[in-house]
Amino acid sequence: MRLLLAMMKHETNTFSPVPTPLQRFRDWGLHENEAVVTAYRGTNHPIAAYIDLAGEIGAEIVTPVAAEGMPSGPVDREAYAYLTGRILDALRAQGPFDAALLDLHGAMVPDGMVDGEGPLLARMREIAPDLPIGVTFDMHGNMTDAIMDNATVVVGYKTYPHVDMYASGLQCGRIMLAALRGEVRPVIAWGQAGILAQTLRMGSDEQPMQGAIAACIAEEARSGILAASIFGGFPMADIPDAGLSMVVVADAKQDDGKAARDRLLAYARDTRTDWFHVHKPLADAVARAKQISDGPVVLLDHADNVGSGGTSDVMTVIAEVLRQGLEGVAMAAVWDPIAVKAMQKAGVGATITLDLGGRTAMPSIGLLPRPLTLTGRVRRLSDGEWTVRGPMYTGSKVTAGPTAVFETGGMQIVVTSLHHEPWDAGIFTHIGIDPGHCRYILLKSRVHYRAGFRPFEKHRITLDGDGVTTSDNTRLTYRHLKPGIYPFN
Ligand SMILES: [Zn+2]
Repeated sequence: MRLLLAMMKHETNTFSPVPTPLQRFRDWGLHENEAVVTAYRGTNHPIAAYIDLAGEIGAEIVTPVAAEGMPSGPVDREAYAYLTGRILDALRAQGPFDAALLDLHGAMVPDGMVDGEGPLLARMREIAPDLPIGVTFDMHGNMTDAIMDNATVVVGYKTYPHVDMYASGLQCGRIMLAALRGEVRPVIAWGQAGILAQTLRMGSDEQPMQGAIAACIAEEARSGILAASIFGGFPMADIPDAGLSMVVVADAKQDDGKAARDRLLAYARDTRTDWFHVHKPLADAVARAKQISDGPVVLLDHADNVGSGGTSDVMTVIAEVLRQGLEGVAMAAVWDPIAVKAMQKAGVGATITLDLGGRTAMPSIGLLPRPLTLTGRVRRLSDGEWTVRGPMYTGSKVTAGPTAVFETGGMQIVVTSLHHEPWDAGIFTHIGIDPGHCRYILLKSRVHYRAGFRPFEKHRITLDGDGVTTSDNTRLTYRHLKPGIYPFN
């Protein structure tokens, strides 16, 4: 048995001004050949499950590439060509393979294209027309015909924060191995719900996502259904296939799959008004936070979330929290490599005045670079590296690049040199801040923070600031969505 295993993941925010060259993948993780196994075995990733399953059956594996880049704007064509080229070249030169098992995102948009994953699968099928291809996708994938026409098995994550990535890989890989043994014959039925659901409303421990996941699990309990997945989709992508979809893998009987898909789509349509965030004035929300006496209170600056392509340097929310004088605030993270350099130069303990954040222009939402001039103390410096102990990406080494803590007013601000969404408490603990002992934890995150910060969270307040991950649809100009999609119909 010979298996081709590969990972290529990027969630593309077509409104984001952050460029996505190959270096962005190198910054987060780009491994090739044997280094893929070294980097990912034992981690909570789908490809780790593929590696384990291959080991169990003694299959020979070829691992041309495993790459993930933090979400940002459209992927450079050179980067896309390089990453897909690694997979396609392996298929050409090192085949034949009994199957391919891929760990993809589903919301990759290369520059000038509308879908990154579908064309990859189509080209794989051109090279090896009979190759069974199993794929895990992120819950935020925007599914397309090109994906479904060329995949054999499709499985999505059932949690957000994504703490079941390994489990999803096991599910996908086991279905594929059963198919190779002739025990099952996977057929896919899928459909789009016609809803551009918002990421902020997709947490799997809340409605409506909780009900959608329960419905998928109920479908999987029926005989003849191998896998049922909801893809909330990624709404920060102005492409025709953006939006919520349901994908069912049935055993041989397409009609079983279609019936399950239709039940799931009915759930999505019945709950369609629940997939949207209701905005509140920022000053009011901060004032409400100030009234809360017991903490930690998690404050979410969700419109500037790196994990969805945000620049992490919009200062609107930080400015308001400082203005209202909240005390005991730990903040993560502001992306500002220039400020980090200034703090390194000044040294720990120095009091300095600096321009913080506001480095990036955001023409898609009409936002100009607007740094905040602040005086404060350099509290700590670090290399920004730690190994994740929390439930998401467990075991992975992550780096936020050279990092510093700047203390100003009642706030300790973690300032990073690489874009980083705070989904793991390590962003604070690696640099000497204990989030459990802070009154407020201000995070540029939407839902993934729950992976690492749920244990600390006594209250949560959502703060509607500025940025390219806004949940305010009046700020965004869509041109390429399918006509009639909710709520634009
Ligand atoms: Zn996701």
